[in-house]
Amino acid sequence: MLLFLLAACGHHIPEPTGALAPLPAPASSLAVCRAEFATGTLPKGMVVAHGALKVDVPSTQSGLVLLHPDGAWLVDGGMAVGFETSMREVKGLVGFAMREASKGWTRAGTPEEVLGRAGLAPAMLKGAILSHGHFDHLGGLLDLPAVPIWAPAQELEEASAVAAGGKGSILPAEARALVERGRAISFDGPAVGPYPASWDLYGDGSAVIVPMPGHTAGSVGTLLRLPDGRRVFHVGDTVWVREGYEAREPKGWLASSFDSSREGTDEQIQRLWQLHQADPELIILPAHDRRQWEALFGAGDCIR
Ligand SMILES: [Zn+2]
Repeated sequence: MLLFLLAACGHHIPEPTGALAPLPAPASSLAVCRAEFATGTLPKGMVVAHGALKVDVPSTQSGLVLLHPDGAWLVDGGMAVGFETSMREVKGLVGFAMREASKGWTRAGTPEEVLGRAGLAPAMLKGAILSHGHFDHLGGLLDLPAVPIWAPAQELEEASAVAAGGKGSILPAEARALVERGRAISFDGPAVGPYPASWDLYGDGSAVIVPMPGHTAGSVGTLLRLPDGRRVFHVGDTVWVREGYEAREPKGWLASSFDSSREGTDEQIQRLWQLHQADPELIILPAHDRRQWEALFGAGDCIR
């Protein structure tokens, strides 16, 4: 009888009324700064196939500084101070393309000086993420000799091949340094969007690295969640300008001569286009498109 009375007093929770708002993303404790190593302009016809050669696009060689309670990291390092010396070993078409792409940049200082302006000493860096091994991303990291450089095994394997005298798109001097200082990223995390695996740098989702093979076999993208709620996707040189993913536009012939796989790069551009269509709020950041960096950082150099 007592049980019956207790049961009769029970009630059902009614169905909720109204639509369910999406859960907010957890707060991010990541702050992000830009370290602009060099500025320049690139002819639009070089960076996208249908761009006019007489129209210049503002360009940058920048590093992204990630500041987090678990340590500071740098994504990319610009060109090496000793680039000209390293180029003496490089001949042929690859050398020609590299020399053309290296012209017209105005350097802001050595990587150490530029980081210093952001209040960062190289010793504070736990590591560097390499978007890919080309001279305008890897070189400057060699000027920060105590910082371990993290890249996928494919990029480290290409460095080993070049260091042993084989062909590849990494400068021989820089390949030798990458062999010495490189550490292999293992993508042990789940699929993220169209990417089959990931590496959660801090374990809290604020900075997630994904494989983007195409421009080079070991190219990576870096997805960031900023404290102000914005999400940023640094895509290296998969596209050089925003028109690449906005219009699924292939690169011009000189820029595409740096792609190790044309088909792979096109596939990655398709994915970026798809992401942009599905999620226009996601800020896609091509490594060299200065307009996108300016739009993200505005007048300041840090987002905290
Ligand atoms: Zn580049």
